Amino acid sequence: AAKEQGRNRFNYFTPSMQEYARYRMRLIQDLRLAVEKQQFSLNFQPIVHMASGEVHKAEALLRWHHSERGFVSPAEFIPVAEDTGLILEIGTWVFENAARQSRDWQRKYGKPIQLSVNKSPVQFRDEGENFERWVGLLKELDLTAGGICIEITEGLLLDASSGVSEKLLAYRDAGIQVSLDDFGTGYSSLAYLKKFDIDYLKIDQSFTRNLEHDSSDHTLCEAIIVMAHKLGMQVIAEGVETAGQRDLLLAMGCDYGQGYLYSKPLSAADFEGQYLAGTDVAGQQVKNQDIRD
Ligand code: C2E
Ligand code: MG
Ligand code: MG
Ligand code: MG
Repeated sequence: AAKEQGRNRFNYFTPSMQEYARYRMRLIQDLRLAVEKQQFSLNFQPIVHMASGEVHKAEALLRWHHSERGFVSPAEFIPVAEDTGLILEIGTWVFENAARQSRDWQRKYGKPIQLSVNKSPVQFRDEGENFERWVGLLKELDLTAGGICIEITEGLLLDASSGVSEKLLAYRDAGIQVSLDDFGTGYSSLAYLKKFDIDYLKIDQSFTRNLEHDSSDHTLCEAIIVMAHKLGMQVIAEGVETAGQRDLLLAMGCDYGQGYLYSKPLSAADFEGQYLAGTDVAGQQVKNQDIRD
């Protein structure tokens, strides 16, 4: 144990560790101010119905533009926000903004557009998680059922202690759908798939990436899609970058695709211009928005 301690102490005092600690402290300070200073925005990435090429869904992805740092990737700041609890305030900001955006677009275009928000497990574990406030907001906005979807990850479903099951049911009652994000990368939680009511299963991009060249990935994608359908879930493939991947997934019966082949995450204005404008209030397509090929 002494040896262990000695090693830790040594590690703690290396310059790179000190640098990292300083960097992290500044990041936390900046993150605290980011909500106040309105440095956050949401980008929207279309989730495309593969067979028709139609877009009725999008994932809201958080973007942070810091005055000096420039753009900071969520992969970098979300874990820090989770460690410090700042994710609670940030997560509420994301939810509120996505809900308002969904309502505004629904009103303007008369076309139901479902926005998905990522929800950190930390938000579920927190007692003051303010579920009522969220549901209250949906009522206040008069958002139709299915206007919002939350994306959760597998690890959460293993955490039986935090009343996740009850919370998911309550969300469902409030008209919120549920996606299982990054499927296949967390703990294997196949037993939990039947226990929870999940609407969409998102195949992680690590399985789609080499789909055309790796027969194991091909087999896994195929099996995941069959299993999900039999359990009553629809499937969204993440990270679809090539027409070849799309064609294989389509042939396997995959319902939705999301990825650079279709579109990168877009600003609200760009998403609106490309996918919503041109439909009238009755939801009739005025121009052809089939974006395949
Ligand atoms: P995620 O929820 O799995 O989101 C998908 C990520 O894949 C996004 O990265 C998206 O830009 C990226 N992506 C989409 N299509 C492609 C593609 O074809 N190829 C490749 N290589 N990547 C693609 P992003 O926006 O950097 O977000 C990273 C992660 O940060 C998200 O992964 C999610 O876990 C987290 N995140 C983002 N926004 C939020 C948020 O509002 N709240 C929470 N709690 N987490 C968030
Ligand atoms: Mg996601
Ligand atoms: Mg994902
Ligand atoms: Mg991912």
